[in-house]
Amino acid sequence: MAVHYGCKYCQKQMATLEDQYTFDELGISKLGAVDQLESVRVTQEGDVHIAAICEDCYQAFQLNPLLHETQNVIH
Ligand SMILES: [Zn+2]
Repeated sequence: MAVHYGCKYCQKQMATLEDQYTFDELGISKLGAVDQLESVRVTQEGDVHIAAICEDCYQAFQLNPLLHETQNVIH
């Protein structure tokens, strides 16, 4: 099982963790139930894909918070 972190806005791959992690170790359990459904996806192979936000998009949203809403509408 591998854990892939990707940006959910620009689809950039941020990191891949090859080891076995529990959801607790990944901090997923700290998220709300709705957040888990939206940001964590498990493939048939058992790989976990976590939709995060990359540095570039984070900074863009800091500069222009309205961009965040626009992106959500598109998706
Ligand atoms: Zn991004």
